[in-house]
Amino acid sequence: MQPCVVLKYGELALKGRNRWRFEEVLLRNLRNTLADLPDVAIRRRNGVLVVHGAPLDVLIERGQIVLGLALVHRAAMVKPTLRAIERGVVALLREGKPASTFALRPRRRWKGFEADSHAIAVRVGDFVRERLGLKVDLTNPDVEVGIEVDRYEALLYTAKLPGQGGLPVGVNGRALTLLSGGYDSPVAGYRAMRRGLSSDYVHFSGMPFTSPQSIYKAYGLVTKLDKFRGGGSRLWVVSFGNAQRSLATAGAGNLQVLAQRRLMVRTASYLAKQIGADALITGDSLGQVASQTLANLVAVEDAAELPLLRPLLGWDKSEIVAEAERIGTAEISILPDEDCCTLFASPLAETRAEVPQLEKIERRLELDPIVEELIASAKVHDFPAKTT
Ligand code: ATP
Ligand code: MG
Repeated sequence: MQPCVVLKYGELALKGRNRWRFEEVLLRNLRNTLADLPDVAIRRRNGVLVVHGAPLDVLIERGQIVLGLALVHRAAMVKPTLRAIERGVVALLREGKPASTFALRPRRRWKGFEADSHAIAVRVGDFVRERLGLKVDLTNPDVEVGIEVDRYEALLYTAKLPGQGGLPVGVNGRALTLLSGGYDSPVAGYRAMRRGLSSDYVHFSGMPFTSPQSIYKAYGLVTKLDKFRGGGSRLWVVSFGNAQRSLATAGAGNLQVLAQRRLMVRTASYLAKQIGADALITGDSLGQVASQTLANLVAVEDAAELPLLRPLLGWDKSEIVAEAERIGTAEISILPDEDCCTLFASPLAETRAEVPQLEKIERRLELDPIVEELIASAKVHDFPAKTT
């Protein structure tokens, strides 16, 4: 009996003709997630991956973090014979919590197996009753045993753990997430990844007028987010302070925050095009703060040269914070930093900005060289994938 972990796809299984590609991407991400464990082997079965060769707790933890897996089982692998299955199931039940009733849930994926599901249940069930004195209860058992028979092994397990769900990162294109130090944008990046988008990140710091604190936070946030895809993210850090000052000098006044935001999405659009990303992602949630009225979202988006996606548009703050806690970004978002947005910001922020007013301010500056300069001076931090 060999200990192993069984990983099951979620929605992926439903994707018909694209399925092979989804599987390839998931496998790549999983391999990257496991790359530091040299003895791990992954067996690919129909709709299921079997992983072994490292402590199960470690494999389970990794399986639970990769996007695209719906279920994770701590399992044991035995030869695909009734005899081996009987013994394996008894051994598994002996190891587990004391129980007085049980149910077997057999599944014969390999149709060439000597018995069908019903026959497996009868034969193995009899053996368990005889050896362990447990009773069968199919509706409310103390313990359920999954038995999945494939060509080269049978998989046995008693526990189901949830995976992240979603789709494997990379099956639905590339985007660039505008990452601040707050709660929202990392969650937005995660939710986009969860739909299969591969994302890089850009952070605008108030440097040279602020400390580098917000950059450390961005770095920490990407470290967390990168785990869901097994590596391969990149973070661009743009020192935005001087450009912000130029906007202030141009008399942005109560439009300062929006003018800055427009310059951010404009710069991010150019960067995205350079790296082959097809959309921008922000953490905007409608009406959450003064800068996120519908009019303001529209005014900012007007400056974007790529579609701007807002995965959190309809989320409440409390929902966003709960998700940030679940995915582990909250502990970084909560750290203090000097947010670049408040530099030069007027206390009377405009809630109903109009594009012509913003354009008027922008015409007082030469935007193109500013954007070019911002991009040229951007610093990239790589979070390399370990194998591919
Ligand atoms: P967050 O919690 O993500 O900071 P927020 O509620 O503070 O969001 P805003 O400050 O209005 O909202 O920012 C809206 C969005 O603009 C952010 O979610 C983020 O995507 C982007 N953004 C804001 N500031 C920055 C920054 N300094 N660098 C990169 N993106 C930013
Ligand atoms: Mg913010």
